[in-house]
Amino acid sequence: MGKPTIAVYGLTCCAGCQLNVLNCEDELLELARAVDIKSFIMAQTGNTECEIDIAFVEGAVASERNLRQLEDIRGRAGILIALGTGACWGCVQAMINDVPRREVLTEIYGEEVLDNPFYECFEPRPLRDFVKVDFEIVGCPIEQSQFLQAVASLLHGDLPLLPTYALCTECKFKENECLLVERGLLCLGPVTKAGCGARCPTNNLPCEGCRGPVYEANFASEVDILLEKGYTLDRIRQAMSHFGGPLSDEALHTKKLKEAELP
Ligand code: SF4
Ligand code: SF4
Repeated sequence: MGKPTIAVYGLTCCAGCQLNVLNCEDELLELARAVDIKSFIMAQTGNTECEIDIAFVEGAVASERNLRQLEDIRGRAGILIALGTGACWGCVQAMINDVPRREVLTEIYGEEVLDNPFYECFEPRPLRDFVKVDFEIVGCPIEQSQFLQAVASLLHGDLPLLPTYALCTECKFKENECLLVERGLLCLGPVTKAGCGARCPTNNLPCEGCRGPVYEANFASEVDILLEKGYTLDRIRQAMSHFGGPLSDEALHTKKLKEAELP
């Protein structure tokens, strides 16, 4: 039997997750020996767009072109892995922007691009909104160790086991002083998926949520705490939408907001 075939693709993103794959310098040769890399534009020439066992797809879907590429990849891949917070949640590409997209486009590129199909785009959305995704590896960018762990598990026929709990758990393991409760800083640890070792709070910086929301995140409770600490709803909404996409209305149905009859 030949080696498992893999491919790495990027949609709308900064390509930082692909770069982090290439930055696995100590393990890269071993990885290249274990798999047959059919397509990885950032890393090699002579790519073949054929049937593959595992496709890693980075970035959000933000245009018809992205969507056609994603559907094509899904059709050829046995397993499709969303790579990074962009592919899993939309990430900074999907950040709330009060200026309409059309206006931003003309401000940057001029009126003439409006009818050019090359510039056609829509609100960036995660892969799972369009195709079946078999597994998600979050992070902006991804953790190299989690990428390697995922590949190792997949090569053994298992789905990877990565943290599914909130970042605060990792922070507590490290016995950090809580920046939110003790110091009133806008830390998104309670609603963010763990896996980075609570890197920012450990270095005295509040978590900005770059790994995206944890499963069943209690946004309402976090919003309540932050309102209590004196943050405005706009500021909270802005912070929460950096990486995890716009906040749903449901997330804002908090007790305190209802009491205050805020929108
Ligand atoms: S500092 Fe942030 S991540 Fe750490 S326990 Fe407090 S809220 Fe959670
Ligand atoms: S602490 Fe938060 S912002 Fe910092 S790397 Fe981890 S998830 Fe990202």
